[in-house]
Amino acid sequence: MTVYLDIGVVYIQSWLTRTTKLRGRRGGSAMISEATAPDVVDGVIDGMRDKVVRNDEAGDIDGVVALKLLVDDDDVGRQVEQIVVGHLRGKLPTATLRAGQYIGENYAAARLNRAKWENTWSPAVSDWPPGKPCEWCYSWPATPNDADEENSRLCGECALRKAKAIDAEEGKPAPRQEKELLSRLDTATRVPNMMKDLAKLSGDGTHVALIYADGNAIGKFIGDLHRMRREKRARELLERVTKVIDESTWQALVAAVGEIWDGDTAPPMIPHLVGGDDVLVSVPADQAWAFVRTLQSEFSRVIRHATEGTGVTPPSLSAGIVFHHYIKPLHVMHDLVSTLLRSAKTEYHGAEAAIAWQDATRDGEEPIDRTPFRHAKLETETPKLAELAALPNAARQRLAELLRSHELGTKPVEQHLRRLGLAGKVATFREDPILLADALGMVRWWRR
Ligand SMILES: [Zn+2]
Repeated sequence: MTVYLDIGVVYIQSWLTRTTKLRGRRGGSAMISEATAPDVVDGVIDGMRDKVVRNDEAGDIDGVVALKLLVDDDDVGRQVEQIVVGHLRGKLPTATLRAGQYIGENYAAARLNRAKWENTWSPAVSDWPPGKPCEWCYSWPATPNDADEENSRLCGECALRKAKAIDAEEGKPAPRQEKELLSRLDTATRVPNMMKDLAKLSGDGTHVALIYADGNAIGKFIGDLHRMRREKRARELLERVTKVIDESTWQALVAAVGEIWDGDTAPPMIPHLVGGDDVLVSVPADQAWAFVRTLQSEFSRVIRHATEGTGVTPPSLSAGIVFHHYIKPLHVMHDLVSTLLRSAKTEYHGAEAAIAWQDATRDGEEPIDRTPFRHAKLETETPKLAELAALPNAARQRLAELLRSHELGTKPVEQHLRRLGLAGKVATFREDPILLADALGMVRWWRR
């Protein structure tokens, strides 16, 4: 049995996207990468090498310090916890941290067990007199000397985020997911620095899509492998499952970027968070459907291959997509996309790759009641959607207008469909989960 100690940031996406600005997220990513980089962690535990080492079964995941204790002694566990939490708190003042100790024959098995102990470390509550709040995060008071170019007052942490983001823009140490992405794409061209620059790569020049994807029923998958561990293939996969999931996610992401990128210019994507089975990225609005379609199918393909011969059903990836004007605050869009992702997973009980989407410009920023659909449905309907997308703008707009006041099947709508030569072709859009009005909303951002 091995004793594992995981110490990391909880609610990492919320912490990262807490600020209204992309710079706040990017600087936050760089801060997390730096605080949890392997060589930095080695330095932090340097004085205790005989008692604790880095856990290389976990892979490098941003925001998590994964350790292995060489002695089964709770006092040592607590001592290491104090040192690492102290280090992280100094680097990430307002992040919520969690430490837990797990025991098992390997890391995956240990994480299936209940923690031997677990502690949550909330950020210190500021005891400064109430003053002007920071205009990036609205969580902490602004300090007298920190501000951004637009003279928005910042707290100490957001000032640090700003400085790190500017470093990244100038090509100095970047968030780990950016470095990893560029190295996997084998390009030296950096990702766009600003949401505005990303939006310029979309047909309309102003809209981007925030995509949040994560694995369905990952806990069940690891549990199934554990139950099958008497079989050699299942046991072997279980021992490296965290890395296999991370690698499948990365391969899917690289394939999805390849789908929307010519290979010469800057990759048309801003990665906010990539790690484990999580993907949070922005792409030009009219590339989102092609991107998500590839991301999901590639993840399934890669992990199915890795799972072959184990007798266990591989997991899939579900996704939420929010189309929005680039100027919208990232944290508001993040809340919306998180809600969408949850609804996609709930609708199909995490048993299948599914998608939920919303156009914040057309549908508003509060979640609307649109039925999520399966990835398989998107694959099947892609030719029909492409046909709708190929219609002249005016014809599509007229059809959308008619559908706002008339049901499908009523005379004015059917006449217009006949005029467009679509009368018999939209049969699949006559019922849930993709109604004709939704299909028109989808192809508003179809690649042309
Ligand atoms: Zn702040």
